[in-house]
Amino acid sequence: MRAIVKTAPQPGVTYVEDHPEPTVGPRDVLLEVAAVSVCGTDREMFEWTPAAVAFNLDLPVVLGHEVSGTVIAVGGEVTRLVVGDRVALETHVPCEQCFTCRTGAAHDCLNMKILAMHLDGAFAERVAVPDKICFKLPDDMSLEVGALLEPAGVAWHAVQRSGMAVAGGSVLVSGCGPIGLLIAQLSFHLGASEVVAIEPNPFRRHLAEGLGATVFAPGPEVSTYVADKYRGRGGVDVAFEVSAAGAAYDTVFAAVRNEGTVVTIGHPGRPVPIDIASHVNKRGITLRGVFGRRLWDTWEQLSAVLATGQVDISWLITHRFPLGDLQPVIDLLSGDANKVLVLPNGPV
Ligand code: ZN
Ligand code: ZN
Repeated sequence: MRAIVKTAPQPGVTYVEDHPEPTVGPRDVLLEVAAVSVCGTDREMFEWTPAAVAFNLDLPVVLGHEVSGTVIAVGGEVTRLVVGDRVALETHVPCEQCFTCRTGAAHDCLNMKILAMHLDGAFAERVAVPDKICFKLPDDMSLEVGALLEPAGVAWHAVQRSGMAVAGGSVLVSGCGPIGLLIAQLSFHLGASEVVAIEPNPFRRHLAEGLGATVFAPGPEVSTYVADKYRGRGGVDVAFEVSAAGAAYDTVFAAVRNEGTVVTIGHPGRPVPIDIASHVNKRGITLRGVFGRRLWDTWEQLSAVLATGQVDISWLITHRFPLGDLQPVIDLLSGDANKVLVLPNGPV
């Protein structure tokens, strides 16, 4: 079958037309892949950046991890899913045995494997995955939106990690890629009074503006704006750092009021110094990290919110590609694009 494979620890990927068919274990399901949304992590993998190397891939591996598809076969021990079910995939594959898993935080499993890093992903016509990472799509959700649940889940999880501080709060979002834009959109849905967004790309700034955010390019203007607007409170209630740009962290911490919350989502490629004394301790800041989605309350809450029809995330999709050469898709990620879908079996 056709697939995009990371074969060696160096830049680039290989598009092949003769990849072996996946084997379906007793607790696996076989999916016909419908849509795979392309992620900044795919670019990291393609370019083989330090952040990509840090994930310790099991090569060779098929890339593509933001997935929806239809079940076309099930292993002998699978009871929860049947042929014809439409599913999205959780990327974090937990062991279900370790302390973290047993105490309700399986997304941070001590023995975690990650789809498209340690087991084959879905830039392919078909993929076999453990049934435990499948999330059954609501009947009225499209397969294209299904492929967005994984990244949208990161945004929802970030909002969860803020203690839902966006509700009635003032919000700063640093970085307006798809996750940052979704955090802005969800914050407004939950009643944020203002979302201040920082983004260097004018196309993405325009998208953030369309959501109602107050937008700035990186630079001193945003700090001046926040200091002036929130003078009486000392800053915004909650800030989300999504850009992973080293220079962003000082701006983000300085923008948050005393006793406020900073949630970090972006993974900088190298250690970033943070002035713990003045940025965190002396101001009672709560700093929280986000990796993946909570299993499964993030998925359940997000899909329930989407099912109300009050939040539509399909607007995030700007481009669709067939399965093939990944280079033009990767190039597009740093251009005027938002979510790019790969459709391995044609339009869905
Ligand atoms: Zn991703
Ligand atoms: Zn575990």
